[in-house]
Amino acid sequence: MGCRVRAAKSDLLRVVAGVDQQGRKAVLPDAGATAPGRGAYVHPTPECVDNAIRRRALNRALRAGEALDTQALTDRLPLIHSP
Ligand SMILES: [Zn+2]
Repeated sequence: MGCRVRAAKSDLLRVVAGVDQQGRKAVLPDAGATAPGRGAYVHPTPECVDNAIRRRALNRALRAGEALDTQALTDRLPLIHSP
């Protein structure tokens, strides 16, 4: 979704709209793909997430009316990406 490269869902990270620890509306990783609601899929790389954010693709895909904070997601990418 971030870069339009097709990939198996198992290679992608599901993200959902939620609330971060500071109470801001945020894009949150859903590594188990179990969170309810509308999700979007990105490659779990900073490049792909950056792309999706810059193109506002995440906001659109998650039907977020306002800007979603992405810090919580990008902060956790290194953890998710590592084996
Ligand atoms: Zn990608």
